[in-house]
Amino acid sequence: MTPLGELLARRIAATGPIGVADFMAECLLHPVHGYYATRDPLGARGDFITAPEISQMFGECLGLCLVQAWLDQGAPAPAVLAELGPGRGTLMADVLRAAAVVPAFGAAVSVHLVEASPVLRARQAERLRGHAPVWHDGLATLPEGPLFLLANEFFDALPIRQFQRDPAGWRERQVALDTAGRLGFALSAPAPLALLDHRLADTRPGEVVEVCPSAGPIAAEIGRRIAAHGGAALIVDYGGWRSRGDTLQAVRDHAFDDPLAHPGEADLTAHVDFEVLAHAAAPAAAAGPVPQGELLRRLGIDARAERLAAGLTGEALARHRAAHRRLTHPEEMGRVFQSLAIHPADAPAPPGFA
Ligand code: SAH
Repeated sequence: MTPLGELLARRIAATGPIGVADFMAECLLHPVHGYYATRDPLGARGDFITAPEISQMFGECLGLCLVQAWLDQGAPAPAVLAELGPGRGTLMADVLRAAAVVPAFGAAVSVHLVEASPVLRARQAERLRGHAPVWHDGLATLPEGPLFLLANEFFDALPIRQFQRDPAGWRERQVALDTAGRLGFALSAPAPLALLDHRLADTRPGEVVEVCPSAGPIAAEIGRRIAAHGGAALIVDYGGWRSRGDTLQAVRDHAFDDPLAHPGEADLTAHVDFEVLAHAAAPAAAAGPVPQGELLRRLGIDARAERLAAGLTGEALARHRAAHRRLTHPEEMGRVFQSLAIHPADAPAPPGFA
């Protein structure tokens, strides 16, 4: 077992089974053994690769989308340009480079990064040198003002609880110890749960529903700021409208892993429920979800890809074409990844979401 696995097994032996959210939070963010606390997991040599690391075109398209939303709202200054979970800082760097076509945007915004990992904060500092980013532990400390926000593969890293429907209510899925002292899944006793009353109509006994306790409050804070001061948020992640089934997933070294097998050494994620984000953002408006491939096409990725292709040959050109396909094709990231925009109810939806 991993060092964190040993710690969790001792804790469970002493105080009883823990919920999946507790398990996930420890695995990802434990200050000594947590997955994000101890490493940079991104890129070809890491455990997984994300859209901004696949091609600069992803950030360029989203950057132009944000700049247009800013122009559509009368170019407010000063404004906050924020990212949740910025990874290596690649997305923000590409956004700022693309946004330079409208110099007034760069002059109006200050850059703010919400990041839990000290390792990734250091990568972001390197990558965004010259833009004087300010780091935050959460949204609460962002300056008040028009908010232009990005979040790619952030919400999928937030801990989820899992509930299995039972004739007598819901059983929470827990992490317990099996008879050999190994981590294993177990179910709590069934109990009614007001939180899930609205799911009684569309689930049957045996089905699993996931709840991400922090997703709603984070979307609500984004929505409050955008409704009060203007701005736009672009949220991209895999998931759909309404949580269905068990989507807890572990990835280690670019392959799926058993979520309990390597605590702290595998990435753990769950699908994002965009319905929760959209509803929580009120009184701001939500548009989408739009599939990632569709959004990038509407934002002009095909033309951008041709421009870039013109300067490439051989191996580099083949890699570029493959990256374009990977970001947009429905059988690659084009459809599993969805995008949601949050915008003021009295302003147009950002380009690509109208
Ligand atoms: N957006 C980047 C990285 C995605 S990985 C990209 O697309 O490449 C998830 C990111 O969210 C990492 O930067 C991770 O450290 C950060 N993160 C995960 N949980 C977090 C939390 N609770 N608070 C702040 N940042 C978090």
